[in-house]
Amino acid sequence: APAAPIYPTENPTISKLLMDEMKAKNIMNNLKTLTSRPHIAGQEQEEIVLVDWIKQQWTEAGIDSIVVHPYDVLLSYPKQNDSNYVSIKLANGTEIEQSQRKELVIDAEQNDPNVVDPFNAYSPPGEPEAELVYVNFATIEDFIALNRTYKINTVGKICISRYGRIFRGDKAVHAELYGCIGLILYSDPLDYTVPWSGVYPEDWFPPTGAQRGTLWVDNGDPRTPNYPSIRDAWHQSNSSLTLPKIPVTPIGNIDAIKYLSKMGGPEVPTDWRGGMNITYRFGPGFALEHVNSLIKMSVKTTNQVATIHNVIGYVRGAVEPDRYVLLGNHRDAWVFGAIDPSSGTATLMELVRGFGAMLKRGWRPRRTLVFCSWGAEEYGLIGSTEWVEELQKELQARAVAYLNVDIAVQGNYSLAANGVASLSQAVFDAAKTVSNPNPTEVSSGRLTLYDTWKLRYPASVGDKPSYYGLGSGSDFTAFLQIIGIPSVDLRHTYDQSIGLASYPVYHSVYETFELVNKFVDPGFKIHLAMAQVWGELARKLADVPILPVDCRVYATDLAQKRDALYQQYGSKMESNGIDFSQLNDTILIFTTSADNIHKRIASIDSTKHVISAPSQHNTYGSTAFPAVVDAMFDIDVDPDQTGRWDEVRRQYSILVFHILSAAATLNPTV
Ligand code: GLU
Ligand code: CA
Ligand code: ZN
Ligand code: ZN
Repeated sequence: APAAPIYPTENPTISKLLMDEMKAKNIMNNLKTLTSRPHIAGQEQEEIVLVDWIKQQWTEAGIDSIVVHPYDVLLSYPKQNDSNYVSIKLANGTEIEQSQRKELVIDAEQNDPNVVDPFNAYSPPGEPEAELVYVNFATIEDFIALNRTYKINTVGKICISRYGRIFRGDKAVHAELYGCIGLILYSDPLDYTVPWSGVYPEDWFPPTGAQRGTLWVDNGDPRTPNYPSIRDAWHQSNSSLTLPKIPVTPIGNIDAIKYLSKMGGPEVPTDWRGGMNITYRFGPGFALEHVNSLIKMSVKTTNQVATIHNVIGYVRGAVEPDRYVLLGNHRDAWVFGAIDPSSGTATLMELVRGFGAMLKRGWRPRRTLVFCSWGAEEYGLIGSTEWVEELQKELQARAVAYLNVDIAVQGNYSLAANGVASLSQAVFDAAKTVSNPNPTEVSSGRLTLYDTWKLRYPASVGDKPSYYGLGSGSDFTAFLQIIGIPSVDLRHTYDQSIGLASYPVYHSVYETFELVNKFVDPGFKIHLAMAQVWGELARKLADVPILPVDCRVYATDLAQKRDALYQQYGSKMESNGIDFSQLNDTILIFTTSADNIHKRIASIDSTKHVISAPSQHNTYGSTAFPAVVDAMFDIDVDPDQTGRWDEVRRQYSILVFHILSAAATLNPTV
């Protein structure tokens, strides 16, 4: 028999075959490999060893092609053997209470000579000494309150801020704006632990850990805004860049308590207090015997050019090879990265192997699948941004959707997915096909990832899970913000209502394989579920003839956003002559168009090609112009002669139109 036609239907059996093909054990082994050494961007383990490993694994998986894109970009590192620290400097010049330069090694697992000690990327080096001021979360509101309400002058001071609420890069911008000469970032137990949680290694809160992280507030190589850092590309000189101008460094809470407990000045208000058993004070400076002492920072962090790599793998589409469904995850980690990002990378690797196995069975998606392993995300989404800048034209024309997984699993509570509204239903549908990895949930009757998601994160209106829009913070940003590609971000998380600023070991040396194996996902069933939901969403987008994009949901989302804007600023805007009916009208136009296209989609007969199709009465055979021939079939004996001949005329017009359309694609443009 002739091969089954690949056009125009999807192959739904692949969904289950792909899910059954993937194994938790493989993801576990991938994670072990990925986290065996620290793999910070720009260094050998990340750029050579892991890049080669991924190329070799993907080649074995049997995908069609693999391309490596290198970029020379500006990165930043602390000084080897002279790591950053904070101390109290007495009036006589002696330094006491020095903070740990390295995070404490609790298990042999954390002991590796390539661990890069805690630092904030792109801090300038410097050794400021000054009075200390506590600035809460260093939000713009905090600094305004310090100035206007509490009358604390931060000019010429070193400020100490707790991590949380906002992106750390903005904290540095605010501190600089308010005249501080240094910024210390620490993790307060109130924001990074819960009362019932023990301390690492019994549980995952490490008082000795420090959160590394970038301070770069834009995206991509700081030296080449809006164009790619391909080899030999001209770049701005480092001195002209808008990088932080004051030294910044992170410390853990066992060190922070030494400084905060000695501070003088008035007590902070209740909502500025953290969770340590001390009196939180504004400063400036220390009290009692340390009244003449200063805080000192020793920061030796410097910027350095390095080569980073994206690894891109392709599975060519059978019917629409120039339509791309992209799946992306970053590969670089601050240290071992067992959660961020290697939980995602381990998952991506199994997914590529799974799709490879489907190819070996003879399957091929309708559209092209593109698998992306990004470099240097941690420094500011650098690999993905440079790639989008380089391939902007091609991607704008070809990309159908970008599906990001950074951290795949940071907890066992629920799936939490966000993205553009038009893809929400596709994400819900994918989550409904994945078996619940939590046995307790299954015995409570919630059989799928979707059921638990809907229960634990319900949407504020309607009977759906919550699904929000995307801001920034991971590699979807360039796709969504620069070229407008519909994007989705998936992760499985802990209970985010308990008030953690992030999971406790985030960006610390304690993100190791054994931590995941013991506390986060023993058995790796959640990782497997993430591979399945990511894979099913990608498969569907790549395989169904009519894309599962719902513009009506987008229209509803627009209306909700308008309502929220109106509620917050409506009367103020209207009293200044801004007419809301303009926005209402355009959203109405969009809504009508969205309804119309979905009506047309519903009435499409997608089962028939206009030129040739399997013959109606013999599927082996081929019929030329099948719709016209079907319309003519046995026409003479039909009592409804008018109706039948109208149908023939309609099909005939459609045929003529399609041939003309095909001809037009062959002509030069006007
Ligand atoms: N995900 C990284 C972080 O939060 C980078 C985010 C960014 O540069 O936008 O530190
Ligand atoms: Ca660039
Ligand atoms: Zn990440
Ligand atoms: Zn990260």
